[in-house]
Amino acid sequence: MIQSVNSVPAFDIKQQYATIEAEISAAVLEVLASGRYIGGPAVEGFEKQFAAYHGVSNCVACNSGTDALYLALRALGIGAGDEVITTPFTFIATAEVISEVGAKPIFVDIDETTFNLDVEKVAAAITAKTKAIIPVHLFGQPMDMTELMAIAQSHNLPVIEDCAQATGASWGGQKVGSIGHIGCFSFYPTKNLGGCGDGGAITTNDPAIATQLRILREHGSKVRYIHEQVGINSRLDALQAVILQIKLRYLDHWNERRRAIADYYYQFLSQIPGIIPPQELLGGVGVWNQYTIRVSSQDRNGASSKYRDWVKNQIQEKGVNSMIYYPYPLHLQPVYQSLGYQPGDLPMSEQASSQVLSLPMFPELTQQQQDQVIYALKDCLG
Ligand SMILES: *Cc1c(COP(=O)(O)O)cnc(C)c1O
Repeated sequence: MIQSVNSVPAFDIKQQYATIEAEISAAVLEVLASGRYIGGPAVEGFEKQFAAYHGVSNCVACNSGTDALYLALRALGIGAGDEVITTPFTFIATAEVISEVGAKPIFVDIDETTFNLDVEKVAAAITAKTKAIIPVHLFGQPMDMTELMAIAQSHNLPVIEDCAQATGASWGGQKVGSIGHIGCFSFYPTKNLGGCGDGGAITTNDPAIATQLRILREHGSKVRYIHEQVGINSRLDALQAVILQIKLRYLDHWNERRRAIADYYYQFLSQIPGIIPPQELLGGVGVWNQYTIRVSSQDRNGASSKYRDWVKNQIQEKGVNSMIYYPYPLHLQPVYQSLGYQPGDLPMSEQASSQVLSLPMFPELTQQQQDQVIYALKDCLG
């Protein structure tokens, strides 16, 4: 039998653009005609709106989520000889910036159900050299910030939230990025609030940190051509800023759509043996940058990544595209070999890497497409 199915993409940012094309075009043309391409009212306007959205007093826009994290560490004065605790189950950028400032990443294992840092293990990893903790709200799921902040505060440690995948998520009624000392955001096109190019932002309620961030992103200079520190060039373009201003107005609506899709998936996927669908923690409101299931074979000691990969191929044949975020945990990456971690050191992260599968998730996903995803999984596992 010949199956004629349209394929379901893992994400589709062109569809979203089509819904707001007229607004974006008008705003972009206005910037082009203005001649103010760097800084100016577009960027300042976006910073104000992004700060207000998060209920914080300061937002400093920058060139990427990676730069946001780098600048945050620099603003806290973290460098050589310091340790920073983070998760190995994340995108490389989270750890890369720790190395970039000269500090040492200390990887702590994740919690099995949330894919986020295991708070008890964080407490056990704190030493006299620890200078900060970087939790990641992975896949858009906020981590338990109440417990993490309690531990951080008892050791007088700053918390830098990596909110790259979680713009708009909240914990205990507070937006992520407003709970720790500094929040770091990415506007990479596939993030919940995505620009049409690179972009990032940093949120904080600490005015001294905000001032320092502004100096560092502008070549270490407060007064033009007087450089007091070694900084970088990390600015958000005016074009990205006006696009992001428009998209910020739709963010809650788009995140609600993602939440509805996650609910629909859960209803059906929780019935299929061998699949563990993700679930929200009580107190958290997630924004589902990714909808990531675990696929576990009966023989849990067997080659489970092979089984997951088999499932990925099976559903691919039925037109369902999926992604693996992340196939290798960071503590076992070649670049971190010198840190001396061995396979088995952080078992939950290693297990996650061999079992995760991210299903199609974007606000414009139709019910028919969601059904196609569910049926494809049912066919090969049910
Ligand atoms: C995307 C991402 C980053 C980096 O953001 P860029 O804007 O691509 O530099 C950092 N951390 C996490 C968890 C991310 O997903």
